[in-house]
Amino acid sequence: MSAFSPLVFSGVQPTGNLQLGNYLGAIRKFVALQESHDCIFCVVDLHALTAQLVHKDLKDQTRSIAAAFIASGIDPKKHIVFNQSAVPGHAELAWIFNCVARIGWMNRMTQFKDKAGKDRENASLGLLAYPSLMAADILLYRGTHVPVGDDQKQHLELARDIAQKFNSDFSERIAAAGLGVEMMMGEEKVNGYFPLTEPLIEGPAPRVMSLRDGTKKMSKSDPSDLSRINMTDDSDTIARKFRKAKTDPAPLPETIEGLAGRPEADNLVGIFAALADRTRQDVISEYGGRQFSEFKPVLADLAVTVLEPISAEMRRLMADPAHIDAILRDGAARANVIAERTMTDVKEIIGFV
Ligand code: ATP
Ligand code: MG
Repeated sequence: MSAFSPLVFSGVQPTGNLQLGNYLGAIRKFVALQESHDCIFCVVDLHALTAQLVHKDLKDQTRSIAAAFIASGIDPKKHIVFNQSAVPGHAELAWIFNCVARIGWMNRMTQFKDKAGKDRENASLGLLAYPSLMAADILLYRGTHVPVGDDQKQHLELARDIAQKFNSDFSERIAAAGLGVEMMMGEEKVNGYFPLTEPLIEGPAPRVMSLRDGTKKMSKSDPSDLSRINMTDDSDTIARKFRKAKTDPAPLPETIEGLAGRPEADNLVGIFAALADRTRQDVISEYGGRQFSEFKPVLADLAVTVLEPISAEMRRLMADPAHIDAILRDGAARANVIAERTMTDVKEIIGFV
């Protein structure tokens, strides 16, 4: 085979309410990419166990992520929407990748350090191995492009390292089995089985920060609800959260350079730009010199305009869980066809009888 066919893969964990960062950093990009690419979007429920084992209602959390995908505009008939645990290949390939990846690689991951906190010995083994499962998620479909927020950049580099080590450790077997795909490694043309995945991170808000602390990422698992805008917050809650958002006392700067060293101001300008589909420069040109007391209500209105139709559609979909389950089941069946093909090749390459 010459060259990998382009395929977009991405996942979201069912660890709580979707927040604005998930939408701007990931889901909105999914919606745009489905026009030009074959896409697979996954609710990564196996990942949801890594930081917290027991969830109050994992089924509902899973359905609500799927509902958010569909409510945002993803077409589950043209593309594939499913939950990870329904396709066994994810866990199977992750095991093989656990044996490809090195412990040193995992120990360098900043998400592990952040999520494990001070008591690292007490973190789950799954949390350490998380990036290996993530590499398996993508490479099970030989995904070439992965739209994600900036926080996932390091994990995607690791997925490339895993693909590269697998390709080079097994290069002779891959060639002998006739399973090699032509790929570029720098200037050189080589044969490999797994592509080196490209992250798609660009945009005005690749990393939306917490509304309480401009140096911390907004997360759905943050204990403080005030730190984030949930996709399902009503307009009063959104207005209140932006009003309470931490800022410094100075007005908005007149230039982009003036945002340096002001993480909270920088964050709100980035959120505004992303929601309005404008550049940060454009936002500063219009609002530079204005007080936050003026800017925040406009920002809140803008967020409500974008999020309200999506959350209304999510509520409508969530009223019929059987329908969501049917979509996920259909997606899993189609994903499994591709996954089984990959696992058959991988078992042949490794030498499993
Ligand atoms: P958790 O706290 O459980 O890790 P999360 O909010 O980080 O939840 P994930 O399911 O881990 O959400 O990530 C889903 C997608 O959303 C990923 O592509 C991730 O990069 C993106 N994402 C998460 N938070 C942000 C953010 N604050 N800004 C931009 N993108 C984000
Ligand atoms: Mg996360």
